[in-house]
Amino acid sequence: MSFTSQVKLELAGQTQQSYCCVTAELGAFILGASVMTLSQHRHISLGFRTENATVLRRALWLFNKSGKAAARPRLLLRERMAGRRQYILQLSSEDSHRLLRDQGMLRLDEAGEERFSAPQRVMRRNCCRRAYVRGAFLACGYIADPRRRYHAEWVYQDRARALRLKRVLAQTGLAATLSARRGNVLVVIKGGDQVAELLKVIGAARALFSLENTRAEKSLKESANRAVNCDHANLNRQLSAASRQIAAIEALSMAHGLSALPPRLEALARLRLSQPDARLVDLGAQLNPPLSKSGVWHQMRELINRAQELGF
Ligand SMILES: [Zn+2]
Repeated sequence: MSFTSQVKLELAGQTQQSYCCVTAELGAFILGASVMTLSQHRHISLGFRTENATVLRRALWLFNKSGKAAARPRLLLRERMAGRRQYILQLSSEDSHRLLRDQGMLRLDEAGEERFSAPQRVMRRNCCRRAYVRGAFLACGYIADPRRRYHAEWVYQDRARALRLKRVLAQTGLAATLSARRGNVLVVIKGGDQVAELLKVIGAARALFSLENTRAEKSLKESANRAVNCDHANLNRQLSAASRQIAAIEALSMAHGLSALPPRLEALARLRLSQPDARLVDLGAQLNPPLSKSGVWHQMRELINRAQELGF
């Protein structure tokens, strides 16, 4: 099951809701997953469309919670491309008008007929804003598997609907951006913190837990990688310093022979040639008398200076 389906399944199980939140969630469903048709008498009929059976059940549950139904909704099945099925929960015209009136989504035209309009209802309560975001996610939301990336999006047919969600998201502390794709308007949330916050807002506790687990694993892996890279860098530095020392010593050896050097420098030069990978501190320990790391460093410096005087 995709991560999106898991989250939707979890959300659909949230049945402890007050009436205000049922209305808010229904509003999000209407803007995110409905088809509206007009009968010849200019009556609006509302249908909820989805390919996801969980979402269909949720739409039916919300409808039943919203008030007394005038008629039982009809379930239509539409065959889509590539064998995909789309369910439509078709409401009676009377129920459709009731729902739209509750949402403030109807206005009267000059002829006194009710027409669909942008929602006039303002959500003042936090519980309702969260319910709206939850409904929008069920209706037209998608969330990527956090093991791949931190990304959530909603797909809307027009900009006004997308903007309404963006505003509600902002009220719950989530920063979304709008973008366009194939004639649709997308509301997008990115980043581990924001996606985690989204799951918190919609109350998907199980999904949040699995996201946090993935994040912890990822950051552990990243810090392990950093440690390995860091060791490599150190090693490279050591090796390139050692190879410069060896080249200098070989130049001195070819010019005058190592025995022409003062004894303390000769001993260090021979030690370095025999142990090209050894650290300075280890070379120093083998000298007689032993030398500290900085002592060895100064003598190496002197060897290199002498080689440079020879034109090395
Ligand atoms: Zn509420």
